[in-house]
Amino acid sequence: MKYINIDDYEKPDGSIDWEKYRKAQLDNGEICSKCSSYIVWRSTDGPSLCYECKQINKDLEEFSHSRFIICPFCKKSVDPSEIDHPSVAYEDGHHAFTCLDCEKEFEVETSVSFYYTSRKLDEDEIDGNNESGQ
Ligand SMILES: [Zn+2]
Ligand SMILES: [Zn+2]
Repeated sequence: MKYINIDDYEKPDGSIDWEKYRKAQLDNGEICSKCSSYIVWRSTDGPSLCYECKQINKDLEEFSHSRFIICPFCKKSVDPSEIDHPSVAYEDGHHAFTCLDCEKEFEVETSVSFYYTSRKLDEDEIDGNNESGQ
């Protein structure tokens, strides 16, 4: 199984040609051709779908995807950032949602995950910003 080497996509000025690099990764099946997430277990050296996108083609009772809301009726995949329902897209819990394509109503369970990045403060960020009172 061959992997695309990022060094091959370096431009003369030393920067990376991201567009070409991602296209090469797509053609090589390293990233999903539908949602662009990285494919962990590759099965081919050609364009491929990630595990989550592959299940859309199956006849399942429910669909889970980390990037899209999948309509269980017509399988339309909706990008949450493009819909007019902030609570469906960004709030934990169960929401009623009507498919934009087939207009059937279904339930979406939204799970929001958090992660925390910590870093040291610069000297000038510490001054006057000490809320612990020490
Ligand atoms: Zn995918
Ligand atoms: Zn639908």
